Amino acid sequence: MTCTSTRVVVIGAGVAGLATTHYLLHGDPSVEHPLDVTLVEASERAGGKVVTRRRDGFVVEGGPDCFLTQKPWAVDLCRHLGLESRLIGTNEASRKVLIPWGGKMHQLPDGVLLIVPTRFAPFAFSPLISPLGKLRMGLDLVLPARRDSGDESVASFVRRRLGGEALDKIAEPLMGGIHVSDPERQSILATFPRFRDIERKHGSLVRGMLAARRARPAKSGKELPMFMTLRGGLGELVDALSQSAAGARCLFGQRALAVQPTEAGAYRVVLDDGGVLRADQVVLAVPARVAAELVRGFAGELSARLRSLRYVSTATVSLGYRRSSLSRPLDGFGFVVPTKEGRRITGCTWSSTKFDDRAPDGHVLVRCFLGGAVDETPALLPEDEMVALAREELRDLMGLKAEPVLSEVFSWRQAHPQYDVGHLRWLAEVEALAAQLPGLHLVGSSYRGVGLPDCIRSGKAAAGLVLSATMAEEVVGR
Ligand SMILES: Cc1cc2nc3c(=O)[nH]c(=O)nc-3n(C[C@H](O)[C@H](O)[C@H](O)COP(=O)(O)OP(=O)(O)OC[C@H]3O[C@@H](n4cnc5c(N)ncnc54)[C@H](O)[C@@H]3O)c2cc1C
Repeated sequence: MTCTSTRVVVIGAGVAGLATTHYLLHGDPSVEHPLDVTLVEASERAGGKVVTRRRDGFVVEGGPDCFLTQKPWAVDLCRHLGLESRLIGTNEASRKVLIPWGGKMHQLPDGVLLIVPTRFAPFAFSPLISPLGKLRMGLDLVLPARRDSGDESVASFVRRRLGGEALDKIAEPLMGGIHVSDPERQSILATFPRFRDIERKHGSLVRGMLAARRARPAKSGKELPMFMTLRGGLGELVDALSQSAAGARCLFGQRALAVQPTEAGAYRVVLDDGGVLRADQVVLAVPARVAAELVRGFAGELSARLRSLRYVSTATVSLGYRRSSLSRPLDGFGFVVPTKEGRRITGCTWSSTKFDDRAPDGHVLVRCFLGGAVDETPALLPEDEMVALAREELRDLMGLKAEPVLSEVFSWRQAHPQYDVGHLRWLAEVEALAAQLPGLHLVGSSYRGVGLPDCIRSGKAAAGLVLSATMAEEVVGR
């Protein structure tokens, strides 16, 4: 099928904007005539929060270091880009997560899936949860289920089903950590809807998770690991997407300042160098607060809703060491820190254990997380102070006193959208307002999921809408 040369401007070359561009250009082989696509990016590099730095044999991730495979869109995209042979999983033999509590490191008991114990023995013998805390978690089997569809915070949900200890020691650092959120404000329906579904269906989380485990087909050996990345880091995905965007006009180092509707039902995109792009369709692949500014001139209500989404700041400090300088082996994926421990890092990934090829021979790589929803301040310090703080915490928590041979800091100011209680209502309002603006699309981490697969899915969906609108016009115009 041929389609007219619709002009599409994609604003933002993070993974969502890059995925949109990829699927616009290569998503539908039946489109013979390529779209006229322009990709506008404020910074000089593509990838947004996906950034891999390679130095002295270390592969350092600044933002994400892997993606969930249960949501298929990231793996599918890698395959579409010819990156299948580069995909690697986490090192399952070392899958162990530690939790410091009361000044001691404890292992998250085997069989605990995020918060729900699904194996009796490791849970029963774990010293992490007190006997009383375990009894309270067991009440999940008999407590009545909430069956209405109203939202609540992750903290309220976990307290209600499993008790305060499960929240403080497990759910808060794990479930809050994944979303960089404060569980007291984090929406259960927007971030972990499956747990509420399980409660409704089975009346108990433990029973529901056990049923899901039993229903799973026997392992065929073909399942993907739960988390995957690329052998040379996620920067490989950005490189491949950048190559795939070669069919688009790519404007790097150019900030979009405003989107304006034209009388002809199209749009003008005003750039910071005074340039103006004309577009039939515009994809805003930028954070909601940036999208709010771009549409402010003509869509006041949408702009106000977009602006109300909160963001918080974090930073990552990656440190490389000679293996021989460590007093303990890094035999796990790292640790997450409960807020009540009062530390100044929220967690640490042992990157070179979690994945192959992250450090040169005889070396290890770890990555500390600073800041976040509960206390942003450590992430706002100057870089050298962040490194010093991370080293102090590693000395206290892991006895790691050695001098690092590498340190890399990435600062993520106001980078993490907060899916607070009511996020789905906010989203419905935003989408209803955006639907009144034909040809305008909102994609990326502010809306329907912060993980890479969800960001990619949103870009793919927007590309699909643009392509079908284009084809519909073509049919009407014939
Ligand atoms: C430290 C950290 C760790 C993470 N870990 C994981 C993980 O392990 N797994 C996972 O799945 N996810 C993880 N995430 C989340 C994930 O990385 C992000 O949600 C995702 O990359 C966001 O992509 P995006 O395209 O929506 O936005 P961004 O990556 O923010 O891209 C937006 C782009 O728009 C550009 N832009 C902004 N304003 C303008 C303008 N006016 N004009 C033109 N361009 C503009 C920006 O420069 C940027 O390049 C992590 C995030 C961080 C920060």
